Amino acid sequence: SAEEVIALRKQYLSPSLFWHFKKPVMIVEGKMQYLFDEKGRRYLDAFAGIVTVSVGHCHPAVNEAINKQNALLQHTTTIYLNNQIAEYAKELTDRMPGNLKVVYFVNSGSEANDMAIMLARLYTGNWDMLCLRNAYHGMSIGTMGTCGQHTWKQPMPQGFGYHHALNPDPYRGPYGDDGARYAADMADLISGATPGRVAGFIAETIQGVGGTVPLATGYLPAVYKMVREAGGVCIADEVQTGFGRTGGHYWGFQRQGVIPDIVTMAKGIGNGLPLAAVVTTPEIAASMASRLHFNTYGGNPVCSAAGRAVLRVVDKEHRQAHCAAVGEHLLRRLRGLQAKHDIIGDVRGTGLMLGVELVKNRTTKEPAKAETAAVMESMKDMGVLMGKGGLHGNVFRIKPPMCFSHQDADFLVDVMDAALCKL
Ligand code: PMP
Repeated sequence: SAEEVIALRKQYLSPSLFWHFKKPVMIVEGKMQYLFDEKGRRYLDAFAGIVTVSVGHCHPAVNEAINKQNALLQHTTTIYLNNQIAEYAKELTDRMPGNLKVVYFVNSGSEANDMAIMLARLYTGNWDMLCLRNAYHGMSIGTMGTCGQHTWKQPMPQGFGYHHALNPDPYRGPYGDDGARYAADMADLISGATPGRVAGFIAETIQGVGGTVPLATGYLPAVYKMVREAGGVCIADEVQTGFGRTGGHYWGFQRQGVIPDIVTMAKGIGNGLPLAAVVTTPEIAASMASRLHFNTYGGNPVCSAAGRAVLRVVDKEHRQAHCAAVGEHLLRRLRGLQAKHDIIGDVRGTGLMLGVELVKNRTTKEPAKAETAAVMESMKDMGVLMGKGGLHGNVFRIKPPMCFSHQDADFLVDVMDAALCKL
C-alpha cells in the first residue's frame, strides 16, 4: 500500500527526497501518456517523469528494442566491441548539425555536464566558466556550482571559477525580451570577473527546473560570439529541450539560430532508461585523445538499444511536428485561461515545454506559491499530474510525453480552469 511504501521510504531512503503533493501519489504502471496508481486510477501525465519519458510510458517500439537486447547481452563495457553503442553514436550524430560528430556516453545529465565542463577546460586551457542565474545543470559537485538557484546548492565548496550572468528572462528580467542588453551584462562579466579568457559558457536553451524560462531574443547568438572571442567554447544543455520536444526542431538551440561546440543530453534520450551523452566536435574531442577516460555503464547495450528506438520513434511518428501542433494549441488555450484568471501572470514556452506562472499581482509579480501548490493538488485529485518549478515554486511545468494529444491538452486546460476556480 502507499502507506507501507511511505514507511519504507522514511526509514530506508534519503531524508532529502521529496514529493510534489500533500498526499503523495503511488504509481505502479504507465501506458504512453497515462499513469496508473495502485488502485487502478488513471492520471494524465503532463510531466513525463520530470521530462524524461519522451515518446511515452512503455512505448511498444522502445520496449521491443529493450527486450530484444536484454535477452541477447546486457553489459560488457567498452573494453569489448559491440554494435549497439557504435551504431547508436552514428545515428545520434546524424541528427546533429555542423561538426558535432563525436559522442561520449554517460548515465545522467549531471555526468554529461561534468564531462562537458572538463572538455571545455582541457580544450581551451582556460578555467573560468560562464553560467546563468536561475540555471540548473545537475547535482554533482562539479555541476552544482553552475546552478544559479539557491534551492539546489548544498552548503559546501562547489568548485571555483563559475560566474553567473544576469538571466535573460523575458518575464522577470530587467530588460524584458531585449537579448542585446542582457548580452552586454555578459560582456561586463567576462571583462570584469574573469582573466578575459574563459573555458566556456553553459546554458539551457529554455531553462527547465528554473520554471520554463525561454532566453530573451537574440541573446544566445550575441553571447556565443563574445564567448568564442574570449577563447571559450559554447555548451548547450539540451537535457530537457532535446529530441523534438520544443517543436519543429530536434534541438532547442536550433530555435535560437546557434550551433554549440558541445551539446549535453539526458532524460528524454532513453525514454527513462539511465542514459546520457555529450556530443562535440572532433577538434574538441581530440583534447582527450592522449588521456584515458572511462565510464562503466555509459552506452550500455540495453540503454543504447532504447536510445536508438527513441530516435526511430521521434522520426517515424513525426514527434517534432506533433509537439509543435499540440503545443501551439495548448499555448493558445492556456492564454485563454490567462485572460480569465488574474492569478496567471505569464504563459510561455514552445512545443510541449510550457510554463504557467502564478502571481498574486500582475504588476508586482509577487509569486503565488501556496496557490500554485493548491492548484496542483486539486488537478491531481481530478486526474492530471503536472510539474512545478521556478525559484519561487510558482510555475506549472507542462512537459508531457510527446504522444500527448490535442484532446489531452483540452482536458488539462479544463481541469486547470476548474482548479483555479476553486481557489
Ligand atoms: N540539466 C538539466 C537542464 C536538467 O534539467 C537536469 C535534471 N533536472 C540535469 C541537467 C541533471 O540531470 P540528472 O538529474 O540526470 O543528473
